[in-house]
Amino acid sequence: MARERGGEGAGLRWLAASSAGPASAGSKAFCLPEDLAEAEDAQQQDERADERRDRHLKPALPRAWWNPTVVMPLRLTRLASRVSIHGPEGWPAAGSAGFRFSPAAPSHSTSAAAGMMAAKADQIRVVILDLDGVIYRGHTAIPGAAETAQWLRDRDYQTYFFTNNSTRTRDSYVELLRGYGLETDPDHIVTSASLTVRYFVDNELIPANVLIVGEGGLADELRGAGLRVFRRPGKQKIDYVVVGMDRRFTYHKLHLAQQAIRAGAEFIATNRDATYPVEGNVIPGGGSVVAAVATAAEREPILIGKPAARAGELIVHQAGVAPEEALMVGDRLETDIEMGRRAGLLTCLVLTGISTAEEARALSPRHRPHWIIPTIATLPDLLRSKLEGEPL
Ligand SMILES: [Mg+2]
Repeated sequence: MARERGGEGAGLRWLAASSAGPASAGSKAFCLPEDLAEAEDAQQQDERADERRDRHLKPALPRAWWNPTVVMPLRLTRLASRVSIHGPEGWPAAGSAGFRFSPAAPSHSTSAAAGMMAAKADQIRVVILDLDGVIYRGHTAIPGAAETAQWLRDRDYQTYFFTNNSTRTRDSYVELLRGYGLETDPDHIVTSASLTVRYFVDNELIPANVLIVGEGGLADELRGAGLRVFRRPGKQKIDYVVVGMDRRFTYHKLHLAQQAIRAGAEFIATNRDATYPVEGNVIPGGGSVVAAVATAAEREPILIGKPAARAGELIVHQAGVAPEEALMVGDRLETDIEMGRRAGLLTCLVLTGISTAEEARALSPRHRPHWIIPTIATLPDLLRSKLEGEPL
C-alpha cells in the first residue's frame, strides 16, 4: 500500500513506494551496457511474478477488488469526466507535449546571462536540480556538484532533485546521490515514475491493471501505490499502459503494448526525452521507447514528466513558496527549462548535458532560460552575485 512521507504541514506530499526498490541499485549511476544484466534480472522477476499471479487467478473466485469487470465501469466513468481533451485538472492531455524549438526564432545576442531581464534571483528559496547532465553524466559526477549542494544546504535553500528518468525508485536515488556525496531524502526527490503514481492518485484511478514497458524502478513505484503491474498480461484486461525508459525493450514488448492500447487501455508516457546523456555520448531515452509504442498503437500518450507544468507546481506547493521563488536548474531546454517556464519558475540552463547556449538563444523569449551557466559548480556564483546586487 502507498504511504505518505514527509512532515505534517508539508502540503502535498509525494507518495512513496513501499519497496526500497532494486536492492542492487547501490550507488551506481546509469549507463550501458553494465547495468543491462541488472535491468534484465528485475524484469525477469516481474515476469515470473506475473506468471505466478496468473496461475492463481481462478474464474470461480469471488469478484475481487482487482477484477476489471467490477472496477472498470466506475473507472471509465471517472475517465470520461476527467480525461477530457483538456486533460485532467493540472495534468496534460494526450499528445499535448507542445514544445518545439522554433526554427524562426531570432538569434539572441547577449551573453550567458541572455534574456534574463528582470528575473529576481535574490528571492529564490527553492532550488530544483535535474540529475542526468547536471549532477552526473553516466557514471561520472559533474565536478562541483556535491560542493554546490552543500553550499545550498548551508544557506537554507530547499533543494529538490527532479529527474525524468523512470528506471529507479526515489529510495534508490537517495543511495545513488549519497554515493556522489549529496545527502537528501525521498521527499526531496521527484522522478517521472513517482509523478506517474501521483497522476493515478490525483485522479483516483487506483486500483487498476497496468502494463508497463519500463524498468524496475517504475514497476516498484506503481506497485507500491497499489496498482497491479504486469509485463505479460496474459488474459488480464489492461486498463493503462505506462511506458518509460527500458533498456531491454523488445519487439514483443512493443506488440503487447500496442495490443493493450488498441484494446482500450489508456496510454501514459513517463517522459519523452529522446536521448539520455552518458559519458561523452548519448543513448536512446525514454522518449524513443514511447515513440515506438505511439507509432505502433497510432495513439499519442498522456505525458507525465517534464515539460508538464504539474510537477513544478507540486514542488512549490510542497515547499510552501511562490513559483517565482523557485529556480529550476537543468541541462535540457525542451524539458527542464520548458517545465520551469510553464510553471512560472525561474530557470537556469547548465551546459554539461544536452542543450547548448546557441540553442537557448535561438528560442523565443518565453522559452529561454533566465540564466545560462557553464556548470552546476558556478551556481553559487550566480546566486551570490545576485544577492550582492551585481549584474550578471
Ligand atoms: Mg538532464
